[in-house]
Formats: sequence, structure tokens, C-alpha cells
Amino acid sequence: MDAGLVAPCEPPSAAREVRGVKPHPLPKTVAPLPDELLSGWLSRLAAANYCDDAELLAHIEIDTTHGTSLDFNIDAAAAAKIANAARIDPDVVRSLTFPAMATREASLTAQIPFQHCLQCSREGLSLKHWRRAWAFDCQVCGTRLVPTLGKASGEQMPEKLINRARNGAARLEYAARLRSSKQLRRAMRAVTFAISLKAFRGDPLHALQGHRLEVRLFCLAAIDAAQSRPLVKAAISSSGIDDYARVALLRAFDKEPRLLAAVDYIARQRAKSIGAMAVESHN
Ligand SMILES: [Zn+2]
Repeated sequence: MDAGLVAPCEPPSAAREVRGVKPHPLPKTVAPLPDELLSGWLSRLAAANYCDDAELLAHIEIDTTHGTSLDFNIDAAAAAKIANAARIDPDVVRSLTFPAMATREASLTAQIPFQHCLQCSREGLSLKHWRRAWAFDCQVCGTRLVPTLGKASGEQMPEKLINRARNGAARLEYAARLRSSKQLRRAMRAVTFAISLKAFRGDPLHALQGHRLEVRLFCLAAIDAAQSRPLVKAAISSSGIDDYARVALLRAFDKEPRLLAAVDYIARQRAKSIGAMAVESHN
């Protein structure tokens, strides 16, 4: 009886009973592409063998139903099983996962897919760089990345906001690659301020790696805006200040009372000079 040929993903129960006998390699294998993520490649492997992800993992005898749980953490045994089933080197399997990251880089790398490239997704691809908070355009085809959930392409965003956000994303990437705490702090302060203005209830990191496109774009644009004279920018945003913006400002500068005092000072000076101008123009 050779059930394996009829239903490739069915666990080969006969073989399993014999200790040390590995599951049969899959009938078909697919070569991983550059920057491909393990879970995405496993999905392509499953499709090539006419089964779904859960069936594939069960066949390989890996104790999870979601390939995404392997993207950040795969042990040697699981890598060896996958490598054997797909007839590729275990090191290649490992290279498809994210390596151990420093805390800050990890916080800017989403555990689950939050955006994708429509073009490449149609071809069954899932790429590593899409998980980065700063990823903006697909590095393979150049298409702008969109949220995996939420409103689809019908959502029209102003071109100016998109361009600003693209610049902000590049600044965030630069700061992250440089591992510059100062620049990252400045970027995240801008994001905190931005989400408060957008009435987004949640963590700044979730705003950057979430499904609400307008919030993400606004936050990235704020990172760009905060680069040149960030304190003055914050002060300008806070002048003509309502309570809501005031709270946003306090939250953004929560841990930096010295900066908050500086922003307040600039805002007062601005209010004074605007007041003086108004008086002059009346005379
Ligand atoms: Zn693409």
C-alpha cells in the first residue's frame, strides 16, 4: 500500500511507528526566493504538494498549525524535519527566519503580517522586509505596501501625505540601521504625538505596525516633520492649543520634562509674537 502517492500530506503512519524513520520527503519541492519568509515559503511548498499549511506541518510532524510561529523561532529539530521533507539544506531553512534581534529592532519588526505587496502576494510570496515598521515600498517590484486587513485599494490617500510618509519611513529605517537611540527616540516621540492627534488608542508601535493605513501614514509623516527643528514643530502644533493637543503633547514628552518646558516656552514666545503682529496690523 502506498497511500503517500495518493495523498502526499497524509501522515505516513506505518513509517512513524518505526523509531528513527523520518517522514518521506515531499513529492514536490520549491526553491526559496531571496528575502522570502519561512511561513510564506512553507505555504508555497504546501500548495505545490496539494495541501494546506496545517496539513503540511502535520505531515512533517511539526507541532504547530501556523507557519508564522516558526518565523522568529525555529529549533534545530524542526529545521531538520523541514529540510528533509523539502530536500534542502537545514541552513537554508534557518536563513528564511528572522535571526535573534536586539530589543529595539525586534519592537520595529512585526510578529504577524500587517502589510504586503498586492502584486507579489498574488504570486504567493511573503517577504521578510514587509514585516519591518519602516518598509514602505516592495523591494522586489516597487509597489507600495498596503495593510493585509482592512479597507482594500479603494482607499485614496493624498499624494502629499504618502510622500511625506515615505520620507518618514526612510528616516525610521536609517535610525534603526544606525541603532541611534537619539534618533529613534525622536521618531517615536513624533509618533506618540501623532497618534494622540489621531485619537488612536494604543501603543505607538502598534500604530506603525497596524492595519489602519491612515494612522500609519500620519505617524510616518510625523517622523519626517519632526526631523527639522522638532521642538519648534511641536510648539507650532500646540499653539492655538486645545485640551486634546495639550494632552497629546504631555504624553509625547512624558519622560522628558526639560523638552516639554522648552516646547512650552517656544509656544508662549510664538503666541506673544503672533499677538504683537495682530495688534500691529490693527493699527
Ligand atoms: Zn512586490
